[in-house]
Amino acid sequence: MTKKKKIGERKRIALVAHDNKKKDIIEWAIYNKNALTRHELIATGTTGSLLEDALDRPLKKLLSGPLGGDQQLGAMIAEGHIDVLIFFWDPMEAQPHDPDIKALLRVAVTYNIPFACDRSTADFIMTSPLMSEEYNCVIPDYSMYLKRKI
Ligand code: PGA
Repeated sequence: MTKKKKIGERKRIALVAHDNKKKDIIEWAIYNKNALTRHELIATGTTGSLLEDALDRPLKKLLSGPLGGDQQLGAMIAEGHIDVLIFFWDPMEAQPHDPDIKALLRVAVTYNIPFACDRSTADFIMTSPLMSEEYNCVIPDYSMYLKRKI
């Protein structure tokens, strides 16, 4: 049976950027500052500190990505505590926490949350009318996979 999760008008937006993408996420956040004021922001440690300065508002900071912050975000998505993921990962450089990055992207798809990995897609998400409305997010039915293991 299809399950749905109601997402409120105020979204819980997770923000992460690799070091070579931090300038991008700061510019992007300033560009979208007005729209972001309507939502709750959660970020990995260093990205979060930079965004607090850039946006002049406090936000919830997790551990730094390579120290477990990406995994914390993945767990929050799995538990239904994140509605949107903005993740500017670096396509040009391998990261020490590559497995965590892959896991975060996988869990975002697993739970069907909207996510952006570049500025253009993030702009399209932020300007969607659904960002200011309630939304019923379909949770895919994985019961077949669970049964297969028995
Ligand atoms: P950071 O982590 O915000 O602590 O730099 C981001 C990441 O590399 O995943």
